[in-house]
Amino acid sequence: MLPEFRNEPFSRFSNPEVRAQMLAALEAVKHEHDVVYPLYIDGEAITTANVIESLNPSRKEQVIGRVHEGTAEHAERAIAGAARAFTSWSKKSFEERARYLFKAAAIMRRRKFELSATMVLEAGKTWAEADADTAEAIDFLEFYAREAMRLGAPQPLTRIREEDNELYYIPLGVGAIITPWNFPLAILTGMTTSAIVAGNTVVLKPAMQTPVIAAKFMEVMKEAGVPAGVIQFVPGAGETVGETLVDHPQTRFISFTGSRRVGCRIYERAAKVQPGQIWLKRVIAEMGGKDAIVVDEHADLDDAARQIVASAFNFAGQKCSACSRAILHEAIYDEMVDRLLAITKDLRIGDAESPDSHVGPVIDEGAFQKVLSYIEIGQGEGTLLCGGKQASPDGYFIEPTIFGDVRPTARIAQEEIFGPVLALIKARTFEEAIDIANDTDYGLTGSVFSRDRDHLEYARVNFQVGNLYFNRKSTGALVGVHPFGGFNMSGTDSKAGGRDYLLQFTQAKAVSERL
Ligand code: NAD
Repeated sequence: MLPEFRNEPFSRFSNPEVRAQMLAALEAVKHEHDVVYPLYIDGEAITTANVIESLNPSRKEQVIGRVHEGTAEHAERAIAGAARAFTSWSKKSFEERARYLFKAAAIMRRRKFELSATMVLEAGKTWAEADADTAEAIDFLEFYAREAMRLGAPQPLTRIREEDNELYYIPLGVGAIITPWNFPLAILTGMTTSAIVAGNTVVLKPAMQTPVIAAKFMEVMKEAGVPAGVIQFVPGAGETVGETLVDHPQTRFISFTGSRRVGCRIYERAAKVQPGQIWLKRVIAEMGGKDAIVVDEHADLDDAARQIVASAFNFAGQKCSACSRAILHEAIYDEMVDRLLAITKDLRIGDAESPDSHVGPVIDEGAFQKVLSYIEIGQGEGTLLCGGKQASPDGYFIEPTIFGDVRPTARIAQEEIFGPVLALIKARTFEEAIDIANDTDYGLTGSVFSRDRDHLEYARVNFQVGNLYFNRKSTGALVGVHPFGGFNMSGTDSKAGGRDYLLQFTQAKAVSERL
């Protein structure tokens, strides 16, 4: 019998054997710089005229690998092939499709250190962050496989005597899967395999910054035996491959995770019914955040400060769930500033490959310039308390930066920066703190630190975010434990890693037979 879902344990790098395995994996991955990965269309490896060179954000010159770049024509071919593969894949049982996911989970477990090492080098994730990414990918496979089996089982209906009634969840068709670079394995795996296990076929377009880990995901799925055409792999630019997939009349749904700007653009374009299109496209969009942690006058301040720093600066603040606003009660504001500065000053910034680094680089030149420009804006909007500068010039390193006395309406308190920048905001009362927290277009994650039960209950009802945490950090959602996704401009209100998630990739068919 299938064991109950359990989250994949994190690797203990304090164990010398585990540490040695990771070091060996990093060495091995570094030797793969000459590998050129293909596109996959209809099960065939395809090479193209251009390659995407994937670079290490910790060492700007270091090539991690190269991936052939697809064009709009490849995207068109991939959709046509996915539509052909849909005919047979959609007819398989949920159980049969789930078995491919279980197999893929086992392969990822075997390749765990290699996959994590690839993300250390390609995405600038520290060891622990990369390991958590791989663990989450395995969790998505295990969780969605079980969910598929639940959806495939007979569904409860009210019985009437004169009829036999059944309800089946059937797939939608061909989907476009457009993924971000910040959880380049976990989110990509979750988005792709949730769609296919429900019986859809997909064209996967990964982010340009992290194509090598995406290509390794394809190797895993091929080894797991996923039939040709079920996952078409077309790395390429958003403006060419991405938009072709979004606009195409044979695309039935788009599953997107990324920025608000691109998410809104996709939503709008997908709404247009193209000539020959016989459905309304479904869009599942997970977008940005401007996440806040509220600390009241009764909180454990040491703990709150540690968790705020972890939420704001782990992975250099490049998580949609990262804390970018700390809203502090005025009675404890000064004490919290001292604590936050003390902890932040101890953070070691450096090459993600070093097991001693706490904070790695931001992903690329574009991100680097964007974060620095927000730091400049911040100089006019608050008091720079620490950081604010580039760290080592070898990579895209930015010092963890804290601004004090920021107004709730300041740009650095309203716009997603997606880097290691934290704005401190003072509140006179707890209710005002929650109002400030809610005063954003987003609604993804939030935390409250308090030992006052009334405050926690007030926040439970009034803090408008998809994932609300009490007395813990705002990051680190676990599959199955914390179904993840936000409100308002954070997306289309879905919950990745939750029990409603797969329904988005299905439609229900009720069949009634008169007896
Ligand atoms: P992005 O929007 O720049 O890119 C995401 C994907 O969209 C990439 O594959 C990109 O190539 C593609 N794309 C770009 N332009 C496109 C277009 N015109 N048409 C179609 N596709 C296009 O985002 P990013 O920088 O990769 O990721 C960071 C963002 O993702 C942040 O805003 C972060 O908050 C968000 N995010 C949200 C969640 C969540 O669960 N809500 C999770 C992770 C990241």
